[in-house]
Amino acid sequence: MRRLLGFLQKVNQSILKFQGRPFFEAVRFLIIYLLVGVVWIVWSDKWLAAVVSDYETFVEMQTYKGWFYVITSGVLFFVILKSRLSLLKDLSDKLIHQATYDELTQLPNKSKLTQMIDQMIGRCGLDDRFALICMDFDDFSNVNELLGYHIGDQLISSISDRVKPLINQEDIIGRDSDGFVFFVNLDKYPEDQLTDFLEEIKKSVNQSLNIENQMLFLTCTMGISQFPQDGNSFAELYKAANAAIHQLKEKGKNDYHFFAEEFHLKRLERVTMMNELRNSIDNRDLHFVFQPIYQMTENRIIGFETLIRWESPTFGSVSPAIFIEYSENTGLIQLIDEFVFESVIRLRKEWCHNEYKDIVISLNLSAKGLASAQLMAKVASLVQLYEIDPHHIQIEITETALIANFDIAIEHLHFLRNLGFSIALDDFGSGYSSLTYLQTLPIDTLKIDRMFTKNIGLDAKQDMILEAIINLAAQLDLKLVIEGIENVQQRDFLLEHQCLFGQGYFFGQPLELAKACELVKKEIKEANSKNKGDMI
Ligand code: C2E
Ligand code: MG
Ligand code: MG
Repeated sequence: MRRLLGFLQKVNQSILKFQGRPFFEAVRFLIIYLLVGVVWIVWSDKWLAAVVSDYETFVEMQTYKGWFYVITSGVLFFVILKSRLSLLKDLSDKLIHQATYDELTQLPNKSKLTQMIDQMIGRCGLDDRFALICMDFDDFSNVNELLGYHIGDQLISSISDRVKPLINQEDIIGRDSDGFVFFVNLDKYPEDQLTDFLEEIKKSVNQSLNIENQMLFLTCTMGISQFPQDGNSFAELYKAANAAIHQLKEKGKNDYHFFAEEFHLKRLERVTMMNELRNSIDNRDLHFVFQPIYQMTENRIIGFETLIRWESPTFGSVSPAIFIEYSENTGLIQLIDEFVFESVIRLRKEWCHNEYKDIVISLNLSAKGLASAQLMAKVASLVQLYEIDPHHIQIEITETALIANFDIAIEHLHFLRNLGFSIALDDFGSGYSSLTYLQTLPIDTLKIDRMFTKNIGLDAKQDMILEAIINLAAQLDLKLVIEGIENVQQRDFLLEHQCLFGQGYFFGQPLELAKACELVKKEIKEANSKNKGDMI
């Protein structure tokens, strides 16, 4: 008995294991069908033999019995097959819906939109014009992260209820990541009416929403591309509309913007440039030139400013003013800053024991770099690795770098100064130029922007401001370097006003390293022969 129970348990387990598998289910169905068939044949024959006595009637009844079996099983098959196929169809319809419609708003998703819009474009006539509007909620990730995804979902579904009634019946509205997509026929929206429509969308998004007792406000940015001029398919129009969103987000948010080809090309150019720059950084294809900084009364070089140079395969030589700004937006600046520090520290190490030992090397540090704790740690480790005394390295930072993140910037400036670097505030006068905070900044040098130098002797008011800055720097005990000195008049004006240090094309253009070294050597040689002459 125990054995039998064990056997039945095993059979049951095997059945459970295979249940739901199509092959097993079909075999089970076949077995049941055959068993019912056998039982029917055996029992119906016995029952027939019991009620029918003559042979002829028995044979006739056998035929009816056969027909009965065939028809009943046929009907049974039909019912089972129909119910199974309906189930399958419902399931596949549900799956297709799930794959093509957004669950939250029940609006077509991107893959369905592609199909619908491409079909619409395929059907349209020669004069038809459409606009694709991609709408993106501004900073929506903040809502999800700070308030939770359930609030984000409720926001989207409330706004979908508001914007759905805004479109015409023949137009299309769909859902895409953090926003909606509209595809409207421009015959119904001439230019001014389209902008009315866009304003209406904006208004309905901007209205406050009360969700779980919290008043929430959303803004949105819309990019618009038009068929046929901006693209011939959903994919092309979508790309253009999103490019328009990016164009707008560079200027501000909560507005709409029509796609403009030139701007798109500029962005494309920027992407190409950044890809090439990344390669150049990896291959160490960037190099430096060195512009001398002079002690003007003695006409003697006291230092060099390190200026980065890059030759792009596509764009030729690109100004650092451009590629540094672009790379600040992509994160590449981190790599550039590290490269600059490492190169300068290595050079300073080489110069420690030769005739250049008193020359100060300046380097430019980006705003992002100044705010980066990671870079600070890297700089400290480089100082340790190369065993240098950083007193002869000056770090130039701009006011923008301070304003971006004042507290962290100040903390990092103290850190760099404690390591031994000296700090210069670069391009002073070109930005916010707040005189009040100068005394609180941990800086040693003030570099006056060449904008002031350019107007020396031409603009009396600016000359007065320059004089005031020169006096202020002296009172605050800051070393003053004037940038962009291009002629003798400018130099003389500055000397008259007790400005000791200057930099600019009048003294020297940025030079390759070998040429910069030659210049120092020549200067030392001349000084030595002058000394000898003096002694004689
Ligand atoms: P900056 O730090 O103010 O550098 C001075 C710029 O003025 C240099 O331009 C230099 O060539 C130019 N210059 C010097 N003297 C004269 C002159 O007499 N007249 C005129 N018209 N220009 C003069 P450059 O090399 O094109 O650099 C532009 C800016 O790019 C730099 O301004 C600096 O902000 C940034 N930069 C350069 N190298 C680096 C770097 O290694 N790292 C970072 N983060 N920024 C850098
Ligand atoms: Mg500089
Ligand atoms: Mg400067």
